[in-house]
Amino acid sequence: MFLKLSYPQCIRSKVSICLPELLPFPHRRKMDEKQVKRRIVLVPVPAQGHVTPIMQLGKALHSKGFSITVIQTQYNRVSSSQDFSDFQFLTIPGTLTDSDLQSLGALRFLMKLNQICEASFKHCFGQLLQEQVSRDDIACVIYDEYMYFSAAAFKEFQLPSVIFSTTNATAFVCRSVLSKVNADKFLIDMKDPEVQNSLFPGLHPLRYKDLPTSAFGTLEDSISLYSEAVNTRTASAVIFNSASCLESSSLLRLQRELQVPVYPIGPLHIAASAPSSLLEEDRSCIEWLNKQEPTSVVYISLGSLGLMENKDMLEMARGLSNSNQPFLWVIRPGSVPGSEWTESLPEEFSKLVSERGYIVKWAPQMEVLRHPAVGGFWSHCGWNSTLESIGEGVPMICRPITGDQKVNARYLECVWRIGIRLEGELEKETVERVVKRLIVLGEEGADMRKRAIDLKEKLEASVRSGGSSCSSLDNFVNSLKTKNFMQQ
Ligand code: UDP
Repeated sequence: MFLKLSYPQCIRSKVSICLPELLPFPHRRKMDEKQVKRRIVLVPVPAQGHVTPIMQLGKALHSKGFSITVIQTQYNRVSSSQDFSDFQFLTIPGTLTDSDLQSLGALRFLMKLNQICEASFKHCFGQLLQEQVSRDDIACVIYDEYMYFSAAAFKEFQLPSVIFSTTNATAFVCRSVLSKVNADKFLIDMKDPEVQNSLFPGLHPLRYKDLPTSAFGTLEDSISLYSEAVNTRTASAVIFNSASCLESSSLLRLQRELQVPVYPIGPLHIAASAPSSLLEEDRSCIEWLNKQEPTSVVYISLGSLGLMENKDMLEMARGLSNSNQPFLWVIRPGSVPGSEWTESLPEEFSKLVSERGYIVKWAPQMEVLRHPAVGGFWSHCGWNSTLESIGEGVPMICRPITGDQKVNARYLECVWRIGIRLEGELEKETVERVVKRLIVLGEEGADMRKRAIDLKEKLEASVRSGGSSCSSLDNFVNSLKTKNFMQQ
């Protein structure tokens, strides 16, 4: 039984109008008789850095012959645009808002989202199940590790589920380690600068201070969120937007420790394009880049959540200006605390920027990084930005703010050696020096660029036919065909 002609409580986007249950009966029967494509359901975290890779994953799986349903919260919904016209979108009613994010902070926001969504998600998911001709039509449900509330529904409905981690495997290992530390002892240890700078046992080359603690909540909050996120519960597998050429030992470690298959299938942005920007991209910066010299521009972005104080912005502008390099700077509205946009910055800032720089509120980042004028990326080192930069062979200036960004920055600097870490207070002299080291002065920057290009080639090879990520995706898809997928 699959027919319920009453409009389901879960809000439908335009795309779902073509769903069988809204067609008149004779048409439905015809469709049922045809071979029905198996469906994969995706459950993203409503934040840019999570939405982008899960939609890319959806595209990759769609190209393998699956139908895709995205169940999302009302907050930060992906639009069912042309690019996703074949996808079905369902919305869980009644979720949180931007002001909840401001008042709760990112960690508590996620925890609350998990509390309040569980019942309405189950209801929404139950409706979707009723629409299927048979339960087997749903091949599996893939949920972002931070949407762990949804696992309860899959357990109840006895459907196979898979965790998708939008960070890398090393950060997952770290979250797993952090979820077991004694918070009081860790906080005392971290007060000692010597401890902060020493290697964390078993996580070489990460130091205590590189562990992905969050700046958006207390250590206790991080620990309790991480223990939920790394708990594989009844999941049959874990997928990573990563590649074995980047972090083979962490992937092997997880393969051993998690006791379910681990599939590194990234970088997804190379494997499957899926434009899913939640903000409007200002393309005028491409015109501006067209007028700059090759590899001369520093592109600056702190991702979708990073904030920066007035005084740091001013020091940065001074240092960039003194370096004499052109720069393209993404300043999101609301990213300067206490200011709508840049109006609280002194006149000097606008003057320095107008001489050498160009500011946008949101850029078409992948296109920017691909542009021949871009010589370096000043980044907060979010995992998507990191992959996108490596994917274009662009070396980085690493200024992590929180969480896994610190892990990524350490790997960029010490393992892949394609980034310079900028630590401590921001001062114009250090900013000028780091830009010159990366872009202007001889060997160091050139070597980093060369290594970045080598790594780019390895990443491209990994998603090509026969490459490790491509094979891993095929293995995952094949595993969905096996009867015992749920028991894996
Ligand atoms: N991004 C973008 N335009 C911008 C800044 C960022 O399209 O001006 C995209 C970027 O390409 C990346 C995502 O936003 O895919 C940010 O994800 P990331 O993991 O780097 O950081 P987060 O926002 O999660 O901190």
